Amino acid sequence: MTLTIENAAKTFADGTRALCPTNLTVGPGEILSLLGPSGCGKTTLLRIIAGLERPDAGSRIRFDETDVTGLAVEHRNVGMVFQSYALFPNMSVRANVGYGLKVRKVPAAERRQRVDEVLSLCRLTDYADRPTHALSGGQRQRVALARAVAPRPRILLLDEPLSALDAALRDNLRDELAAMLRQFRITAVFVTHDQSEAMAIADRIAVMSSGTMLQVGRPEELYHTPANAFVARFIGNAMPLTGHMENDVLQLPGGQLKLPAGAAGKTAYIRSENVRLDQAGSLSGTVETVTFSGGHFRLAVGGVLPDAGLLYLQHPGRTAPETGSTVRLTIDPSDLIFL
Ligand code: ADP
Ligand code: MG
Repeated sequence: MTLTIENAAKTFADGTRALCPTNLTVGPGEILSLLGPSGCGKTTLLRIIAGLERPDAGSRIRFDETDVTGLAVEHRNVGMVFQSYALFPNMSVRANVGYGLKVRKVPAAERRQRVDEVLSLCRLTDYADRPTHALSGGQRQRVALARAVAPRPRILLLDEPLSALDAALRDNLRDELAAMLRQFRITAVFVTHDQSEAMAIADRIAVMSSGTMLQVGRPEELYHTPANAFVARFIGNAMPLTGHMENDVLQLPGGQLKLPAGAAGKTAYIRSENVRLDQAGSLSGTVETVTFSGGHFRLAVGGVLPDAGLLYLQHPGRTAPETGSTVRLTIDPSDLIFL
């Protein structure tokens, strides 16, 4: 199914403008992530798609060719998964997953077959007869997903489904969820405030801020060609190098950086993974903090950027320079983003 959102907007009764007029198309089987900080309007848009929130006059929501804007949630055939799974704790996994089919009066034999199919896809067959209160957080999350997809909804809507889980579990489940969603081949909209989650799960990401959709694109597009400073910072924490630019040379407190032609009047951004320690580097600064994060060290270097700004870098290897030491750095101009 293709979801088409035209001019969707929402101002709440108290005057809060949660969503500015927004246009978006999600193709058949596509997984689109709505990504943005808390309060930017993600849930509001998801609830408008579901039919749980009535959008402002002039908004249009289409499922394929059908205009569903005035249609109540129970007539839209949407599957939903929320942060709080709202499972029936004393009912078995099987009964939870079959619930939506029973409500829709699907005959028992067909119901059983569909439930078995979904349980297997979600790797829940072995837990089918357990009550959901006896499951781990990750298993419950899979039950919530299985329950949402069992009635074969036209679209699956997920609102921060992983955020109630602890960090270690979340990373594994993220990849698992991505794999499961692809198996179902259902058009899906996945809300999150976590960029790594959005990148792992979505085919395309829509970055939102203050009720506005800033950019929509594949994860690598947003990473390499962000449309503005907000997207550059939000996707991959690009750091602005706000120095004085003269004849394609950027003058920073820590040294000079030769820029490619055409950079004039713009601000250069760089990501920590593209700043390297290099004894022959043209920049120098003082190591302020060093943290070890398993795969690499993360260094904050002072004295390179103006206004006491810190330049962060990732340093692979077994040892790192000490706090307080002077280091030289290099930045490949081709890694700079100009905005
Ligand atoms: P997100 O899901 O991105 O965190 P929401 O869509 O929940 O953001 O909220 C967007 C904005 O709308 C916020 O400022 C929030 O406080 C406001 N908001 C959400 N629901 C209501 C409501 N029922 N009445 C008034 N304001 C609301
Ligand atoms: Mg929300």
